[in-house]
Amino acid sequence: MKLIYCQDCHDLFKLSLTMRTCECGHVYGRYVNNQDAEVSEDAVSIVIGNTHLRASIEAMQIHTLRTGNTADRTSYCQPGHGLIELAWVRPNCGPGNPRSRVISSPYPSDSASETPLNINQSPFP
Ligand SMILES: [Zn+2]
Repeated sequence: MKLIYCQDCHDLFKLSLTMRTCECGHVYGRYVNNQDAEVSEDAVSIVIGNTHLRASIEAMQIHTLRTGNTADRTSYCQPGHGLIELAWVRPNCGPGNPRSRVISSPYPSDSASETPLNINQSPFP
């Protein structure tokens, strides 16, 4: 799972096929297909292994049941109790993140599909 983080507003969010922006508007990004993404230069790219995330959720639920929800928060930081064991930060492009590229605007650069508004043309036929 690809996430991006804004160091200004501390917003952390998952990329989707729709352009998403952090709360302060400084960081943005999206998937362009099922694997490739584009993110703003100042975004911090974070990966959480999907399998590890699911395993951590299951482990947390089991730990909660086994302890009758009496375990303190530090116990959930332990492996097998909720710790996500595979997450990392990487650059926004290059060999460290070959399926992402940096963009300079949250708006698509391909405006070929958009018809510019002609102010001299009547909107009525
Ligand atoms: Zn922000």
